Amino acid sequence: MTAVLPSRPQRPTGGRLVDQFEYGLDAPICLTWELTYACNLACVHCLSSSGRRDPRELSTAEAEAVIDELQRMQVFYVNVGGGEPTVRPDFWHLLDYAIGHDVGVKFSTNGVKLDKTRAAQLAATDYVDVQISLDGATAEVNDRVRGTGSFATATRALENLAEAGMKDFKVSVVVTRENAGQLDEFKALTDRYGAQLRITRLRPSGRGADVWDELHPTQAQQRELYSWLLANGEQVLTGDSFFHLSAFGEALPGLNLCGAGRVVCLIDPVGDVYACPFAIHENFLAGNVRDEGGFQRVWQQSELFADLRSPQTGGACTKCAHFDACRGGCMAAKFFTGLPLDGPDPECVQGYGETALAARDAATVKPKSHLDHSHTGPVRGQPTLLGIPAIPSKICDESPLAGLDLR
Ligand code: SF4
Ligand code: SF4
Repeated sequence: MTAVLPSRPQRPTGGRLVDQFEYGLDAPICLTWELTYACNLACVHCLSSSGRRDPRELSTAEAEAVIDELQRMQVFYVNVGGGEPTVRPDFWHLLDYAIGHDVGVKFSTNGVKLDKTRAAQLAATDYVDVQISLDGATAEVNDRVRGTGSFATATRALENLAEAGMKDFKVSVVVTRENAGQLDEFKALTDRYGAQLRITRLRPSGRGADVWDELHPTQAQQRELYSWLLANGEQVLTGDSFFHLSAFGEALPGLNLCGAGRVVCLIDPVGDVYACPFAIHENFLAGNVRDEGGFQRVWQQSELFADLRSPQTGGACTKCAHFDACRGGCMAAKFFTGLPLDGPDPECVQGYGETALAARDAATVKPKSHLDHSHTGPVRGQPTLLGIPAIPSKICDESPLAGLDLR
């Protein structure tokens, strides 16, 4: 791929890919597309505060036009989520449409629609991958976060996929303080279904901000997670979730760089394009696919993405001995906890994040997303009360650098 934005610093033509990616590419490697904010569940940590459908949602024809554009831009696959994407009546049509236009689909679901018939259909389709969200290796742990009955729904979907002969499907877990001790159990559960485990980081985005203080892993759990990933990393997918842990010592596999606006972005259900699925906030809104020039223009010409593609040269983290390993961590995690973007990640493994959190001024206002599609009434802020689980995770199944030479 070629560099964009010629007036900006140019992407180096040699050296490590991670350094080249810092300057952005002319098409995203890890594009997440949330098809709807509608969801049958109300998980406590939902990063997009999903629940109710937005009436301005892209129509079927508009969604097809986005797929046509992705095909022209040679975006080879898209991560589809929500909300719960399968509750959109045209979901299965759009899945076929994308595959028919050379855009592979990886979709995240709570499993609510994955009966035996759908599982068989998916198993017989090329260029489609599915990941089932599960946040506890037991119903007790899972349902506290995702809602009563959600563990049963998810495992039924896993059974249906396994029985249908689906290959390479995923179990997607957000690591929390409550389930961090279940990593071996998650691995065993996943192996039992012939699936692959994917673990991601809890970010303080959407409703996740409401529970982050009590649910994000402790420092001791982060250390254990790091050791577990060193031992099991080859068999477990993590995307860009845990690169901040590389500051413990040996680098973990994957992209050691925040890819927001560089190789990662989000198209939300109404066509707004954000720098990252975990950054649904006006500050990270780059444009809308309905605007003239569509998605391609937003990706290649927005001022916001141009800024994000400028390498970080200042701030406290650039002075840190571990900067090359962790690059200051996750932009979204810093932003939604009210920390400066050029300072340490709130979960900095050297402890600087905790210090920074403690030093926040009493007057510090933690930014909140301007959007909230949560169900109204008694379900707000409660662990799923709607009978079925869910909140698709929003990050690449695999590292955006999978298969590439990182030297
Ligand atoms: S903001 Fe965080 S979640 Fe988003 S791309 Fe950067 S590191 Fe990943
Ligand atoms: S101070 Fe910044 S660069 Fe250093 S380990 Fe912490 S988050 Fe990473």
